[in-house]
Amino acid sequence: MSPAAFRFAALGAMVGLLAACSQTASAAANEPSVPAPLRAPPQRPGGGVAPGVTALNVPMASAAKAPTLTVTRFKNEDYFAASEIAERLGFKTTWEESKRELTMVAGSRKLVLTGEKREVACNGLRIFLGDAVLYRGGKLYVNRTDYERCLLSLLRPEFITSPVPKLRTIVLDPGHGGSDPGMENNALRVQEKVLALDVALRLEKLLRAEGYSVVLTRREDRQLAPTKEADLQRRAIIANAAGADLFLSIHFNSLFPDTRVSGSEVYVFTRPGQRSDTSWGFGQPDDSENEIAPVNRHDPWTSILAHAVHRETINGLKTADRGHKTKHLGVLRGLNCPGVLVESLFLSNAEEARRAATPAYRQQIAEALWSGIRSYAATLDTLRPKSSTAPATANRPAASNSP
Ligand SMILES: [Zn+2]
Repeated sequence: MSPAAFRFAALGAMVGLLAACSQTASAAANEPSVPAPLRAPPQRPGGGVAPGVTALNVPMASAAKAPTLTVTRFKNEDYFAASEIAERLGFKTTWEESKRELTMVAGSRKLVLTGEKREVACNGLRIFLGDAVLYRGGKLYVNRTDYERCLLSLLRPEFITSPVPKLRTIVLDPGHGGSDPGMENNALRVQEKVLALDVALRLEKLLRAEGYSVVLTRREDRQLAPTKEADLQRRAIIANAAGADLFLSIHFNSLFPDTRVSGSEVYVFTRPGQRSDTSWGFGQPDDSENEIAPVNRHDPWTSILAHAVHRETINGLKTADRGHKTKHLGVLRGLNCPGVLVESLFLSNAEEARRAATPAYRQQIAEALWSGIRSYAATLDTLRPKSSTAPATANRPAASNSP
């Protein structure tokens, strides 16, 4: 075992989830994502769908059983025909041969797939799948991992086989700190570590007002461990120790010397057996085909969380949509709950950096993230079996009900 692999294994053991590593990619989506059944989870404070909050439009979860699909093998991987996915999930399709583009629509939900491309448009948002959609014999095929761990969650979340998670404790992770400033725009004197902490504190207030229990991985300007790798792992360990139901890492992007790029990105941990969105994760122990990181057990719920945070960030900040992407991110790897990392804008872009430097805009970022979390909470509420749903009178946020 390489030193890196040993560290990973040690982290896995620490969070008590090493067993996850023995799962195979193809079977994982049918197994519960948490060890104990949580069929009647406690409601989030203030339970129910809050007014003005968008949940994915789904019917009440029942004993819904995901439709069986025919597996086709390409490149030693399992794929499903997109047309069969659409038919079984009850989506109408339109095919445009010249573009090799299949559009699937059901009510307000829409997915556009293009042959030989990793980028898809889901409900108007850019998502980068782990594997390109294949074009074979005049048909499109979607990789099984992308379907089971991402697209199915967004198209028909009622078919997710693992229990609907509870949502009470939220861990916010302001990126960087101490001797690691993160991205800097020296001309404008802004540092990522300072902005991230400020946004986290603002978001904490909003969430506490709704009755959530909120934990921050840091409240001061400090590093959490002497090395970068240990610092990132530490953040996941803090979240697991706090019993986090949701983890949100707050960052700001940069692409110096290219100062033109702008917009928002949402990252999830790379799904099992797939590649990082960039080559960043190459050589990481979890790049191997069969290894599954602890956080991968929550992939179907993480996908819903990422989609909600992605949509509300783009809507709330009116930023360019740079997509829902995957990366082998050390801060997310060891999590025992759904988790995402948000890069709300680019500090290397003067206009966005100037905005981020104002408290009013940082409040706007916090509110956009808050909307994303509320939307995720609303979707979970919609999916819970009826018996465990809060009465209608409780279907509003419990304002000023700080724990
Ligand atoms: Zn960062």
